[in-house]
Formats: sequence, C-alpha cells, structure tokens
Amino acid sequence: MTTHRIAVLPGDGIGQEVTEQAVRVLRAVGKISGASFEFEQALVGGAAIDATGHPLPPATLELCKKAHAILFGAVGGPKWENVPHEVRAERGLLAIRKELDLYANLRPATCFSMLVDASPLKRSVVEGTDIMVIRELTGGLYYGEPRGVERFADGGARAVNTMVYTTREIERVARMGFEVARKRRKHLTSVDKNNVLVVSQLWREVVTKVAKDYPDVTLDHILVDNCSMALVHKPTQFDTIVTENTFGDILSDEAAILAGSMGMLPSASLGGTVGLYEPVHGTAPDIAGQGVANPIAAILSAAMLLRYSLNMVREADRIEAAVQRVLEQGHRTRDIAGPKDKALGTKEMGDLIVQHVERG
Ligand code: NAD
Repeated sequence: MTTHRIAVLPGDGIGQEVTEQAVRVLRAVGKISGASFEFEQALVGGAAIDATGHPLPPATLELCKKAHAILFGAVGGPKWENVPHEVRAERGLLAIRKELDLYANLRPATCFSMLVDASPLKRSVVEGTDIMVIRELTGGLYYGEPRGVERFADGGARAVNTMVYTTREIERVARMGFEVARKRRKHLTSVDKNNVLVVSQLWREVVTKVAKDYPDVTLDHILVDNCSMALVHKPTQFDTIVTENTFGDILSDEAAILAGSMGMLPSASLGGTVGLYEPVHGTAPDIAGQGVANPIAAILSAAMLLRYSLNMVREADRIEAAVQRVLEQGHRTRDIAGPKDKALGTKEMGDLIVQHVERG
C-alpha cells in the first residue's frame, strides 16, 4: 500500500488552529478508506522567523519537495510586520510557490444553499453557484520586464509594468483548465481582453488550439469586463474559468463574495510535482488563539488535496458531503452564524465533520 506523505505547514495565527482540524479529517479518511497517510510538520512564516530567522527554512523546503502534497495554513501577523522585506512571513509562501513552480491557482466559489443569506447578493442570483476559478500564478503583469519608475527633472515620472506570456505558459495553464473542467461539468470559460491586448490575442489562440485535445469539454471565451459583470449578474452560467494572473486575482476575489464568508474558501496551487493546499483566508490576528475560527476552508482544502494530488475522488466527495450535512443540520461557527444560531468553536466544528466523514 502506498503511503501518502503530507507536509503540514500550519504557519501562524489561526493557521495553526484550522490546519489541525484538516489533519484530523484526513486521519479519519485514512481510517475509513484504509489509505495510509504520513504527516510531517514544518515551520513556515512568522513561526519560522522566530525559530530560525528565515520564513522558509531549507528543512521546510526539502520536506515540501519530498512530499506528495502540502497542507498549508496561513502566515503573517502584526508581530512580523516590521521585519525586513526579504524575510517577511509572506515571503515564505511566495518562495514555496516559486521553488515548486506552482503556476496555477484553483479557487472554488461554491454557494452552499443553507448559507445563501450570508451572501450580500440576492438569493435568486447566487443560489446554485458552483464555480472553479483557475488563475495563472507565475507570469503576466506581476512579473514581466521591463518594470520600474523613471523620475524626471520637472517632478513628473513614468512607470512601467509589462504584461508578457509565452505560448508555453499559456498552454500549460490552459491544459490545467481543461483537465479540471473534465472532472467537473465539462464547460471551460477562458477570460481575456482579446479586443485590446495582443497578449490576450495570443492567449485566445493558444487556448483554442489546446481545446482540440479536449473534445469532451465545451470551451467559450469571454472578455474580462463582461465576465466581471456576469459573475454578479448570473454566476450560475459558469463552471470552470481559466485566466491570466491579474484578471484572475481580481475575478477570484469577486467570485469569493458569492460563497459568503472567508472561512469557507479553500484553494489549491498546482503545477510542478507537488500541490499546495490552503484556505484563502489569512492568519486572522483579531480572533487568533480564541478557538473560534471556522475550520471549513482548511478542511475543504484537504478535500482538494485528495482530489487533485492523490486522485482520491470518492474520499474528497465524502469530506465535502460531510461539510454540507453539518451545515444543513444548522451548525455554524461565529463567522457564518445568524443572530439566533449558537456559534461553535473550531474544534467542535472539526469534531462534527470528522464524525460525519467516519459515518459516511
Ligand atoms: P484575514 O483573512 O486573516 O482576516 C480577514 C477577516 O476575516 C478577519 O476579520 C478575520 O477574523 C476573518 N476570518 C478570516 N478567516 C476566518 C476564519 N477561518 N474563520 C472566521 N473568521 C475568519 O486577512 P487580514 O486580516 O487581511 O490578514 C491578517 C494577516 O494574514 C496578515 O498578516 C496578512 O498578511 C496575512 N495573510 C496571509 C495569507 C496567507 O498566508 N495565504 C492570506 C491573507 C492574509
């Protein structure tokens, strides 16, 4: 039997609290499925700065490289805000992404029917929303050269960023888009600005070419401005979205609103040989240490780990169904509780989800 080696990097603040619950859920999956997991924990972020002076110690990177998947919590917090830029806690996460060539970020935006009223949008708009946004993570405007500011003698200035993509960079994330869409409802929407940007014209050309290898997936193209409107007007029209770095940064946050709370949003960063799974939220210093954080985003990240890194689709479904049932029964953590709900703590919510995973 294969042993799945999981590197566990809880990080700081509520990262510590929610990751613990995600590991418990994976242990429960191991118990019911017979799969064997080996969890090894390592330091990252502020916790690593305190212990070693560096946000990503070499031992942590080594562990990540040898693992089958990485379960990540969150990093950063006020304690480390004034450290030099190159050793900031957040650099730990950016360095892992770069070292492991994690070029695609997957962020699902699912509107759970019992939490519809937590969304600022109308029930008739958000009900039934189930979108996967895939954002290219290592190219485009955020990394392109030349970049910089030129200052002029008259006090004026000129600033430049460059949006640049190669065929290879577009093709690999497009393939990721088609592969993911294949595991969902087989509908991929590629987002670009083809009417203005030559980069988008190349993007559309390459995505259309890749589509020939995926005849079972329907592909359409949409302009980014139009997509932004459609996400809040008729989000149910989307299944899987693939787009470049900047557009994806903005659209994935817009789509997040559809899900109600930060505490509900998982994510995956894929690309190289090892995938990294983490809740979208940060370390929440305002509630850290109180045991009240919602562990669902971390637990759903563990479900993504099973689905995308270990191909344990049934077990991933089982975790998602357990979360659904616990919510259906009316259990809520503070961030998603209504005025009449009794708010559960992080561990209590974890206990309930573990029980439902074990019961099936
Ligand atoms: P945050 O996501 O930590 O918190 C935003 C708000 O959402 C807070 O009110 C918080 O209490 C609430 N919240 C977040 N997750 C929750 C959960 N699971 N349950 C209940 N409530 C939850 O964002 P922030 O306050 O902007 O950032 C705090 C720190 O986290 C900063 O140092 C930031 O740099 C870091 N951060 C790290 C990551 C990461 O590691 N990937 C991501 C975002 C922010």
